[in-house]
Amino acid sequence: MSQTVPNLLPFVELPILFKPLTLDQQPLDIQQKIAQINEVLPQTQCGLCDHPDGCLPYAAAIVINGEPHNKCVPGGQPVTDTIGQIVQKNNPPLIAAKSNWETDAITGRPQEMRAIIREADCIGCTKCIPACPVDAIIGTGKHMHTIFTELCTGCELCIAPCPVDCIDLVPISRQISADIRQIEQHDLQSRYYHHLNRVADSLADSRHTKPVVSMMEAKINNVAAQSLDISEADAKSTIAAAKLRTKIKKLEKQLSVRPNAQKQSELIALQAELAALV
Ligand code: SF4
Ligand code: SF4
Ligand code: SF4
Repeated sequence: MSQTVPNLLPFVELPILFKPLTLDQQPLDIQQKIAQINEVLPQTQCGLCDHPDGCLPYAAAIVINGEPHNKCVPGGQPVTDTIGQIVQKNNPPLIAAKSNWETDAITGRPQEMRAIIREADCIGCTKCIPACPVDAIIGTGKHMHTIFTELCTGCELCIAPCPVDCIDLVPISRQISADIRQIEQHDLQSRYYHHLNRVADSLADSRHTKPVVSMMEAKINNVAAQSLDISEADAKSTIAAAKLRTKIKKLEKQLSVRPNAQKQSELIALQAELAALV
């Protein structure tokens, strides 16, 4: 009988940052367990579990390296207990890692926070933008920046890079059902993966002249370089595919504003080239 593999979708076409995890090469039962734990994690991507690359590497470390399952700070006790059930290590139960924020009496999780920029003090330096794992900050150089509060997870990663300390955290109060939480977590995960892919594409683009400005950019650069050591041909095609995707996205954007037959055929040719590569 063939084995069914639930929740493996996150391991298909993962961002290049996760390549060193080699998740797709793990035995199926290990992959399933990692996927199950990743489903439970808040997807805040805050790195407070000592995994600055986010929730998926922590899920993998719990299963593969036997890392303690109580390190997710925003998940609090409910997440620690649920992971304990998955890995069958709830006897005795572990106490969740302590948060700086009070525990919410209703959810049992730490108080949720959101970041807000004191716009009058913002100098428009753009340093907070690459730090945000879910692309919740908008703004351009020398102009005031702002945060889409509904997209912000309160991960606090934008606070340290701000040279003028103009980002504040404010508590929010809400009650959400388990279903809504799950939908929200999936959305955060896909926003984070989109963010990582965009950073990787921009680093692979030869016209990209901006210096590396975030820890994540440096890590993605390293992974791409290591991939070159492991399999030059493989890495070259990954980089070529990233460049093609960047060109395709630009053309699609232009064509969505103004149809143009020549650009349309250019787009079709690039899409065919990409399909042949991946
Ligand atoms: S949300 Fe939890 S698992 Fe995800 S990065 Fe933050 S502490 Fe780690
Ligand atoms: S705006 Fe700041 S606190 Fe909010 S998600 Fe982005 S980096 Fe995290
Ligand atoms: S890091 Fe601070 S000063 Fe710079 S753009 Fe962001 S909020 Fe404004």
